[in-house]
Amino acid sequence: MVDQTTITAALNSIKTATEITNVLRESDLSIEEAELKLKLSDLVHALADAKLGMIRIEETLAGQEKRIAELEEALESKDTLVRHHDAYYRLDKKGKPSGVPFCLRCWENEYRKRQLVADISGIYNVCATCSHRYDLQRTTMT
Ligand SMILES: [Zn+2]
Repeated sequence: MVDQTTITAALNSIKTATEITNVLRESDLSIEEAELKLKLSDLVHALADAKLGMIRIEETLAGQEKRIAELEEALESKDTLVRHHDAYYRLDKKGKPSGVPFCLRCWENEYRKRQLVADISGIYNVCATCSHRYDLQRTTMT
């Protein structure tokens, strides 16, 4: 998660890089080579900080876009999913729960529609996302 501090730090790094560039551009040609190298080093450092900040912001925005898409899908599914015993199901044309079971915990806690799958024991259905195990009898439509 990116907070305001990360954004402010990235903007400050860009501002610093701009100021250094302006100093170099406006300086006369008598600037010492050592001073020039120091300023260029500062410039590279400021640009690297800005780049890292922008990468963090980009990653956060991508994560938020994905989560928004999931929530939009959940909102669209809200009226078409119904709880039956320990799972959620889609409603069929007759308005009855049918099809594959979805994880109760993922749906109720995070509005994530995650399909349950039978584990190898044949006793449980398991959510691949949260790993919660459900009694197969209570998460299977009969
Ligand atoms: Zn789950």
